[in-house]
Amino acid sequence: MSLAGLPVIHHPDCLRHEPGGEVWLGVWDAGTEVPARASILLDALTRAGADIHLATGHDDGAITAVHDPALVGHLESAWAQWEAAGYPAEHGRHRVVPYLFPTAGLLSGLPCRSPAALHGRVGRFCYDTMTLIGPGTWEAARGAADAALTAADLVMSGAPSAYALCRPPGHHAGRDAHGGSCYLNNAAIAAQALRDGGVDRVAIVDLDAHHGNGTQAIFYARDDVYVGSVHVDPGAGWFPHYLGFSDERGSGAGAGANRNLPLAPGTGDDGWLAAVDLLCADVRRHRAEAVVVSLGLDAAVSDPESPLAVSGAAYRRAGERVAALGPTLVVQEGGYDLTVLGPLAVETLTGIVAPQRRRG
Ligand SMILES: [Zn+2]
Repeated sequence: MSLAGLPVIHHPDCLRHEPGGEVWLGVWDAGTEVPARASILLDALTRAGADIHLATGHDDGAITAVHDPALVGHLESAWAQWEAAGYPAEHGRHRVVPYLFPTAGLLSGLPCRSPAALHGRVGRFCYDTMTLIGPGTWEAARGAADAALTAADLVMSGAPSAYALCRPPGHHAGRDAHGGSCYLNNAAIAAQALRDGGVDRVAIVDLDAHHGNGTQAIFYARDDVYVGSVHVDPGAGWFPHYLGFSDERGSGAGAGANRNLPLAPGTGDDGWLAAVDLLCADVRRHRAEAVVVSLGLDAAVSDPESPLAVSGAAYRRAGERVAALGPTLVVQEGGYDLTVLGPLAVETLTGIVAPQRRRG
């Protein structure tokens, strides 16, 4: 397999985010969203002959086109404020971990204020206890967004496909909320950049094993960006638990432009590919001129974070089917089995370049 000619865009800052674990169910766990994910992917794609590019810097305007500037400012400054306030040195709190969340029930309809205490404030933008902020978190998230934006530039310049090696992942981050190990929504940022660059109709196809709740939220009321996601059924007890159900179809102008295909735990290649085909049919109906793929590799049978049972061969076939839809911008999302991450990415991208080579 050779990926010669496929642009792979990465940013060295993506290695700087060291969450150092996560607080899950009240206990500190090792966590699986580790820097090695990015280096393993880069090594595998380099060995497969892809054209490796460094991400270029883009203005914050491309980020705030989909995110609340208040979230962006918070992510940019939270660690420095935490450190300056002495939480690590004086209190042994080595990462930013919220403990209080302004849920609808807490606020009871009253406006959300900005708390005076930093440890109160950090729950405003984060919806879980496992998406920690530490030194390098902002730089990594910003670098990942620049990788996605650089890939968007290449696709708008005529590249049939491009892959952005984003880490941390992004599809659980909403307009003003981070969580699910995600900070900035790289796929949404790329899709909006395509729109702002003159692509009239865009589709996002989310292949991650978990529902892309952040992406769904950002485009829920819009019909210019279709969002389709195949994922393990949240109703069977899986993250993000509250969202990702099949009756979430979009609202207002976006009614019908959102599609969720939840799968039962244990679903393998046939069921997963049938769902991918349904999403591809939707994308054709939507008449999308470019496709953004949220490529989670955690649907793989060996992945520790999901109960789906998809093979590398199926990822390759999914790549072929999605790439047949048109110009394809691939954004890395999850995938946590470090022993298969590289081969799975190579399989998928081999599938993506195959129909493009036949066309060329
Ligand atoms: Zn996932």
